[in-house]
Amino acid sequence: MKPIGILGGTFDPIHYGHLRLAEEMRELAGLQQIRFIPAGNPPHREMPQVTASQRSAMVRLAIADQPAFVLDEREVKCNKKCFTINTLIELRDELGDTQPLCLLMGGDAFLQLHTWHQWEQLLDLAHIVVGYRPGYTLEERIHSAPAKLREHYLQRLCAVDYLSRHAAGGIAELAIPKLEISATMIRNRVAENRTIRYLLPVTVANYIYQHHLYTPC
Ligand code: ATP
Repeated sequence: MKPIGILGGTFDPIHYGHLRLAEEMRELAGLQQIRFIPAGNPPHREMPQVTASQRSAMVRLAIADQPAFVLDEREVKCNKKCFTINTLIELRDELGDTQPLCLLMGGDAFLQLHTWHQWEQLLDLAHIVVGYRPGYTLEERIHSAPAKLREHYLQRLCAVDYLSRHAAGGIAELAIPKLEISATMIRNRVAENRTIRYLLPVTVANYIYQHHLYTPC
């Protein structure tokens, strides 16, 4: 069964780094769909300046021309703190026990996984698929991670074909050229009145300007 990908993030704002990560993973892991799930009240960060519904609106604009990309607003609409583990429990309930689910993330996010709420249970509900730069594998960096995360990684590492044959439990790595773009870079550039053209879809850039986002008060 073709896996469904889940890409969570603050998306403050969404940019081509996120979109290329999703598109490359869709192709390499044979994902039937990717759900973009903007964080509501992010447990790991301060509240962003922009509202959750504005971040969500920007994701909607960014993915409009890719039918395999879907906006899932459950965390934005949730009034309390939403953790990834709870989102996965809900998705597992809705999609059934046999549907492969892949939690997608960049290598930087994976190396912080041990700081996530109930992180050791995530693999009971989904696979984890990590994008890393070609020539720069997680294997080299995992040695600096805490022992528990290292153990998880070494025990669960799997090939891509495992992802469609099992519902959850594997950690796969995919070599993905990383675009040196971050949401922080975009926010800073807007604040400094510098161009953000070609860093994110033009529809998202227009939304930022129309709503005067990221400009100093
Ligand atoms: P910020 O600069 O505000 O920290 P960000 O650009 O890193 O934000 P997030 O919303 O925190 O974006 O990231 C969501 C996911 O996208 C994470 O798994 C992260 O690793 C991945 N990601 C972010 N930027 C890139 C990029 N340029 N290339 C590949 N993956 C990325």
